[in-house]
Amino acid sequence: MRIGIGYDVHRLVPDRPLILGGVEIPSEKGLAGHSDADVLSHAIVDAILGAANLGDIGTHFPDTDPRWCNVSSLLFLQETESLVAPHFRILNIDSVLIAQKPKVVPYIPQMVTRIAAALKIDRSAVSIKATTTEGLGFTGREQGIAAHAVACLAPKENKRIKKGSS
Ligand code: MG
Repeated sequence: MRIGIGYDVHRLVPDRPLILGGVEIPSEKGLAGHSDADVLSHAIVDAILGAANLGDIGTHFPDTDPRWCNVSSLLFLQETESLVAPHFRILNIDSVLIAQKPKVVPYIPQMVTRIAAALKIDRSAVSIKATTTEGLGFTGREQGIAAHAVACLAPKENKRIKKGSS
């Protein structure tokens, strides 16, 4: 089994939609970024790439590439699944969103559905949690939203080694 971690932060700014886990959430501010700035999807991409030791999100989806301008980050999840699929099976994802506002909990079931579909895994394999920092730090001041994620991958073994064949 292989484990990877991911972490991401984006700034909250006016006049941008707030997209988290592929779901648009009503909010006065949205996240700034080259793509849709979906901080949760980005953290999950990095966790999966880390577990597979395939670099990071910047390696595969650089913010200098016009192809990724304003795209849905669910596309990054789909592409990441394609990258690891020949060698690994994604067992599960766990994640935490850190946001003071808005309340994201009502949208979590929809995020789980979209992320699971993008990664071609069962909904039961995707966990999303949310917390505030009780007003502390940049997330508490509503200057940004952060996300942590871990991914667990299992190598696909095409050739099994026979036991006791030494
Ligand atoms: Mg990002």
